[in-house]
Amino acid sequence: SQPVLEARGVSKHFPAGRSTVRAVEDATLALQPGRIVALVGESGSGKTTLARLLARFYPPTEGEIRLRGELVKGSPRAYYRDVQLIFQDPFGSLNPLHRVRYNLERAVKLHHDVRTKEELERRVVELLERVSLTPVEQYVDKFPHELSGGQRQRVVIARALAVEPKVLLGDEPISMLDVSIRLEMLNLLDRLRTEDGLALLYITHDIASARYLCDDIVVMYAGQMIEGGPKEDVIADPLHPYTQLLIDSSPDPERDRTDRAALFDAEDLGEPPSLIDPPAGCRFHPRCPVAMDVCRTEAPPRTELPGGRWTHCWLQEDR
Ligand code: SF4
Repeated sequence: SQPVLEARGVSKHFPAGRSTVRAVEDATLALQPGRIVALVGESGSGKTTLARLLARFYPPTEGEIRLRGELVKGSPRAYYRDVQLIFQDPFGSLNPLHRVRYNLERAVKLHHDVRTKEELERRVVELLERVSLTPVEQYVDKFPHELSGGQRQRVVIARALAVEPKVLLGDEPISMLDVSIRLEMLNLLDRLRTEDGLALLYITHDIASARYLCDDIVVMYAGQMIEGGPKEDVIADPLHPYTQLLIDSSPDPERDRTDRAALFDAEDLGEPPSLIDPPAGCRFHPRCPVAMDVCRTEAPPRTELPGGRWTHCWLQEDR
């Protein structure tokens, strides 16, 4: 089916003094209704910049963003309704001076022609029920600071749903929450995609939560997408050495780590590169234990493999 939201060859460069930060390079991504894509990478990999490009905080330097196949230009109002971004910090994104009710009523009124007080109330109650903040009376008249982090994040999600979006972009939506409630939040996101057919982009540094929630995984490194495909395949048999590293450094007691762990000595891997002057060729080459001569000079092209998998790595060129 046609993707709801697509990025095609999208780049974002920011000026930094006399230099340029190449925060995102040539990113291509498609979000389908009812499916969850995890965008995985460490901090500084460009994933937040990509989320903001998709949320249209700023236009791309190069490339296209398409909503239901239509090229998006400028800042069309409907776009900000259809594509909602949820941030890491639920406290920062709610107005602390207003009660939950007001925060939700405002969002409802912005996008619906609500005629009566009763209808407004009904919609607010419905929203709170959908994010499982029940009994509603217990939450609706609270101020954000009177709620726990998880409850606040539910209010943020309810507010995003108030405008009946087609796409939710969650930028590390659970990483500031208490460990004990992270799973509940992931289950809530999962329910929304099933019930509402939302397309979800789940941005995380944590491959374990991506493994739990998503259908497809896309891995970013140093501003570039380096591998993608169905979750099970990417995790069982990562094609790119960096994806192997990510998976090996994520705790999973059920997995046998012996073969791949031998490839990496995590201590020696060092830091991700600067995006001002990224390494030539493959950006991962300074950290890659199997780098070849070609990797130092030429950027690996995208290699497509059967089953919807793809990667950018010279190792795959002769598969
Ligand atoms: Fe390693 Fe070369 Fe593949 Fe880059 S292209 S990940 S340096 S083998």
